[in-house]
Amino acid sequence: MQIVILGPPGSGKGTRAQIISKIYGIPVITTGDMLREAAAQDTESGRIADFYMKKGELVPDDIVVEVVEERLGRPDVEGGFILDGFPRNLAQARALDRVLKRKGVSIDAVLKIDASTDSIIKRLSLRRSCPRCGAVYHLKYNPPKKDEVCDECGSGLIQRDDDREDIILYRMIVYEEQTRPILERYENMGKVRELNGEIEIDEIPGEVRRVLGDLA
Ligand code: AMP
Repeated sequence: MQIVILGPPGSGKGTRAQIISKIYGIPVITTGDMLREAAAQDTESGRIADFYMKKGELVPDDIVVEVVEERLGRPDVEGGFILDGFPRNLAQARALDRVLKRKGVSIDAVLKIDASTDSIIKRLSLRRSCPRCGAVYHLKYNPPKKDEVCDECGSGLIQRDDDREDIILYRMIVYEEQTRPILERYENMGKVRELNGEIEIDEIPGEVRRVLGDLA
């Protein structure tokens, strides 16, 4: 099963991707995490990525496509995968088609998630992330057991530079201008299925099974 998840920042893509991964046993490919990792390793492309990520802008296509292409070449994606955060514009969508064509597979479904501006800002401004293992918390709805410390690996949690309110608003504009147009392309291909970004976390597995059940 090859799945793409599209939605504005903070709409709950990552949470749903993890739940789908557990239900169907396929890996999640999260470009934001991979780019943050490259930035932390201070490679040349990581430094460029960091420059754009801090401002809330899209990282240049050549860097992102290379990262995704390398990841899709690994054996664990043979049974399927979930793309979280890619493609983010039309050029990336076309590049993805080319990569998948070479592999002899195609996208089965594009999951579209929407959430109100108000809930996005509430979610992202209280989001805390673990810089070491990538676990994500929400200070109100999903707090760590010990204040500001990761339950999984014990590292200190951080607020991402781009989870500040001014940058969040800018990332939402980038989504509307560059990413939303891809939905029309996938709609014309009959691939789009909708997920509700406002439901409670314990309702998500049921919704996922309803929406993707026919593909399993
Ligand atoms: P995310 O964690 O998905 O919210 O992504 C955080 C930041 O990483 C974005 O604001 C972009 O700067 C960068 N990024 C993630 N995925 C992509 C992508 N597919 N294309 C370009 N930039 C990306």
